[in-house]
Amino acid sequence: MNIHEYQGKQLLRDYGVAVSKGRVAFSPKEAMTIAKEIGTEPIVVKAQIHAGGRGKAGGVKIVKSLDEVRAVAADLIGTQLVTHQTGPKGQEVKRLLVEEGIDIEKEFYIGLVVDRATDRVTLMGSAEGGVEIEEVAENSPEKIFYEVIDPVVGLVPFQARRMAFNMEIPSNLINKAVSFFLGLYKVFSEKDASIVEINPLVVTKDDRVLALDAKFNFDDNATFRHKDIMELRDYDEEDPKEIEASKHDLSYISLDGNIGCMVNGAGLAMATMDTIHFYGGEPANFLDVGGGAKKEKVAAAFKIILSDPKVKGIFVNIFGGIMKCDVIAEGVIEAAKEVGLQVPLVVRLEGTNVERGKALLKESGINIVAADSMAEGAKKIVELIG
Ligand code: GDP
Ligand code: MN
Repeated sequence: MNIHEYQGKQLLRDYGVAVSKGRVAFSPKEAMTIAKEIGTEPIVVKAQIHAGGRGKAGGVKIVKSLDEVRAVAADLIGTQLVTHQTGPKGQEVKRLLVEEGIDIEKEFYIGLVVDRATDRVTLMGSAEGGVEIEEVAENSPEKIFYEVIDPVVGLVPFQARRMAFNMEIPSNLINKAVSFFLGLYKVFSEKDASIVEINPLVVTKDDRVLALDAKFNFDDNATFRHKDIMELRDYDEEDPKEIEASKHDLSYISLDGNIGCMVNGAGLAMATMDTIHFYGGEPANFLDVGGGAKKEKVAAAFKIILSDPKVKGIFVNIFGGIMKCDVIAEGVIEAAKEVGLQVPLVVRLEGTNVERGKALLKESGINIVAADSMAEGAKKIVELIG
């Protein structure tokens, strides 16, 4: 789960991590009120969407007067902001962060990620801030420094200090950087984040060390124990199909292709997508209905696929182990009867209760193309949609 920059900054503030002064605004009027309250010149007005690259896309405005605050706020609210992370349609701006303008001396990068190679949370830092870290990693990987964190003791001060030296934080500000990093790790671990990225972390002309941006991602498997974090969820930033799927506890991710896939098991789902690709098709989604799903859950999954206007054909690929094939058949039939099935449907069932599942589908009168293997099914659906 992602949150907005202003929410991330509040979280940092709660943990004593230095951020610039600012608040969220939902209207130009509110933006003016906040700017007046902050009282600095310049003021920074930042579009709040769950995507980076706002600076380059015109979503970060530095202005000198209250009139300008109102003008840029009115301009930003309601626009579709297109950044390299939003996709071509962009994301509608509904909230703004109004902040004190910071006199930047230098921009840095600091982040925490879960490194799968070491199974450890890792602090990542670089003197190359304000630019995309992926680019730095590609072009000059030696400019990124890492501190692998022992989960038992957490980030220890000497590691934070070594990081600050490596990043070439000015020597008089090392202590401020160290307490910043330690606080950052504390939020990260206590709130079960999976990523936190501060890009840029800045050193200011008046010798402060501040987060100018804050990007948090939280582990969805742990949000149940963080009610405060769950309250920050902004449904406007999410795909409605993914929201619906999460209500039914389905693993669903929207993709750009036109073949809807309903599969059980993440491994089989990925193999199915690869096989569709192999035969020249493009999947419209990743969907894992999971193990012991009931008929209602299967029906919900199928309806989510049917509700996607991109979908020109559906491939159901089930290997029934814990999941029973007749339950899948019942769910598909229920959904198809309720919503109507206007696109070709290829079904491959194998495993527990497969005969009963196949019989149910046959008796249902729904127009189904049967397949005996994953490869055959993928090939058929690609052919059917042309
Ligand atoms: P992103 O492009 O979505 O990552 O948005 P950021 O919050 O990182 O802002 C992009 C850039 O805007 C930063 O790298 C800074 O260079 C600039 N910026 C943001 N806030 C301020 C500020 O208070 N003062 C100045 N001078 N520049 C700022
Ligand atoms: Mn940024």
